[in-house]
Amino acid sequence: MKKLQDKILSDGKVLSESVLKVDSFLNHQIDPPLMQAIGEEFALRFKNEGITKILTIESSGIAPAMMTGLVLGVPAVFARKRKSLTLIDHMYTASVHSFTKNETNDISVSKDFINKDDVVLILDDFLANGQAALGLLDIVEQAGAKLAGIGIVIEKGFQPGGALLRDKGIRVETLAHIASLENGQVTFLGEGDA
Ligand code: 5GP
Repeated sequence: MKKLQDKILSDGKVLSESVLKVDSFLNHQIDPPLMQAIGEEFALRFKNEGITKILTIESSGIAPAMMTGLVLGVPAVFARKRKSLTLIDHMYTASVHSFTKNETNDISVSKDFINKDDVVLILDDFLANGQAALGLLDIVEQAGAKLAGIGIVIEKGFQPGGALLRDKGIRVETLAHIASLENGQVTFLGEGDA
């Protein structure tokens, strides 16, 4: 997605060979027109899948998930990272190891919001090692729901998450696919790469 790639090149900061900082438009300050364009693009790619719910993880997945839900006309649900002390029986839970924070969080989603009749699109801001996506996938499986696919705003193709998910036969759609962050430079794979 050209608009997103241009924004990454103009405003993204390469922190190391494996970490890209995009807190001026996605992870802290949010660029609403860009999020709208992202929502439209995900909706276009998944429009024929009969999606009934978007599932993401707080907090940076919420903006793109909400915009995609708006265009598709379905709710966006976000997994919470803090364990609710009450109603734990009423939650699906999974463990997720965070790439950026190097810590493991339990994530949870209320059973009220995903069930076996749902067709779920998982969305997230970044794909690195795939742990966040696997945690969300675990929750979709616990609910007995159908997975339509996974939408990723920024995939770091030099890390193993994309291959891990695609090897499971899952459709993974990526809007900006980064081949390398070497030498302080962002290099993309070709436009439209999955
Ligand atoms: P994974 O679970 O695929 O290893 O990592 C995905 C999660 O880690 C994303 O939800 C995102 O919050 C965070 N993440 C991974 N790599 C990066 C990165 O290069 N930059 C930023 N800002 N977040 C990242």
